[in-house]
Amino acid sequence: MRKTRTLTGLGILAAGLLALTACNSGTPGAPDAGSGGGSDSTQLWEVASGVSLDGSPTYDRMVSADKVVVGVKEDQPGLGFKDPISGERGGFDVEISQWIAASLGFDADKIEYKTIPSANREQELVNGNIDYYVGTYSITDKRKAQIDFAGPYLITGQGLLVAADNEDIKGPNDLAGKIVCSVTGSTPLQRIRDEYSPGDTVEYDTYTQCLEQLRAGSVDAVTTDQAILAGYVAQEPEAFKIAGDTFSEERYGVGLPKGDTVLKDHINTLFNDGGEVWTALFEKNLAPAGIKGEQPTADE
Ligand code: GLU
Repeated sequence: MRKTRTLTGLGILAAGLLALTACNSGTPGAPDAGSGGGSDSTQLWEVASGVSLDGSPTYDRMVSADKVVVGVKEDQPGLGFKDPISGERGGFDVEISQWIAASLGFDADKIEYKTIPSANREQELVNGNIDYYVGTYSITDKRKAQIDFAGPYLITGQGLLVAADNEDIKGPNDLAGKIVCSVTGSTPLQRIRDEYSPGDTVEYDTYTQCLEQLRAGSVDAVTTDQAILAGYVAQEPEAFKIAGDTFSEERYGVGLPKGDTVLKDHINTLFNDGGEVWTALFEKNLAPAGIKGEQPTADE
């Protein structure tokens, strides 16, 4: 049975965030709540030994390179984040990528990360520049024409971010005459243009570039997945807030080179058998921003 509960909710109180931060303080590298999560989750799983993935060209490439090349994001707190000072990566997506690597026999220090923006994901996979991609990557039929997905491993939905003092925008039907920012090649940009009527849209490579525009007052709203927006609000609750409910279903998958069904099946089995790991990663990385959700069945 496929569970499809959409992530909702925000509004965790500052006191709650402080408590969670305090709980985390014993973990080496653990950041403040909302800053993206430390990457020290290796105690949640063991690095597999004696792995055999007959018929997976991607796995064969990893073995001969003696490393895993993973595409990720680096500016999405709680999901895919790179600490600008320490350079340490963390967040739910980054740790999912580490869990997959461990299941294939590769320790975290055998992972090479590449930060790849939304618009370039399919091409990087098609070109063989990365082995897999974990970064708020919605499963769509259009993308499946070029690549495959394992998952879904998380379900969220499109939302709107506005300035904390904005009183006009309460949902996607309040965008007449408003300027909305999103990211090139993303599903939220396409949907806001196709299905709603904003005054205008502007696009950048990353959501943090949109945040700068919102901070400067040159756009009225930023649109992307609520799980991403919740991380920005958790980091700067005095600057930003989420306006209204989600208005789509975004099912996050692991992007894979097309045709590697052996690797896809391996990852889906890992997810479906790994409920405890999933829950631990969710509680660590996403729950502190007030995100609620449950693990979907991986059936892609
Ligand atoms: N999940 C959406 C997408 O895959 C938006 C987030 C992103 O740009 O990564 O297009």
